[in-house]
This record gives sequence, C-alpha cells and structure tokens, in this order.
Amino acid sequence: MPFSGKLCYNKEKGIYTCAACKQELFSSDEKFESGTGWPSFYEVISSGNVQLLKDDSHFMHRIEVVCSNCGSHLGHVFEDGSTSTGKRYCINSLSLDFKKKGEKE
Ligand SMILES: [Zn+2]
Repeated sequence: MPFSGKLCYNKEKGIYTCAACKQELFSSDEKFESGTGWPSFYEVISSGNVQLLKDDSHFMHRIEVVCSNCGSHLGHVFEDGSTSTGKRYCINSLSLDFKKKGEKE
C-alpha cells in the first residue's frame, strides 16, 4: 500500500534497519523522494547486508531485495537510471525500522 508507511516521509537522520532482525540496511543519506510513495534509496549501507533475488512473479522480471541475515522480504530494486548509482531500492516501510542518529541501542 503506497503512501501508507510511516517511514515514507521520515526526514530524520539515521539508519534504517531490518524490522525483523535489526540488521542495518540503509542510511537516511541515501534516501530520496521518488514520488512513488515508497521509501527509496540509492544504495545499500553495505552491499553484504541485503541479498538480491530474481523475482519473476506477476509476469514481471524484477529483482527482489531481502535481508541477508534473516531473509525478510524488503522490497525491489530497479535499474532505471534515475539516480546517480543507476539503482533505485524501493522498500516497503513495514519491513524497515528506524534508528535515529545518536540514539542508543
Ligand atoms: Zn533481517
């Protein structure tokens, strides 16, 4: 459900983590407004922290993004060249948790 996520309009600085296992996934510095209603990121905080899987469901060829630690579904990555990295990580805000910069664990 686009536009329903509480993190979509989050402007705070910090780290987005996996909602299930708290592994760090994305930084607020890599977040941008894609206009899709989904939290979108240019790049993963560390490439080993997510796994990319081919998703050919719904008659589409997409790349699914899952947490490398617990396997949770996070969203999809699109290579449409609209960003500086050429990648657009479109993440379901329900799959993410947010850790504010400077906040204790
Ligand atoms: Zn996880």
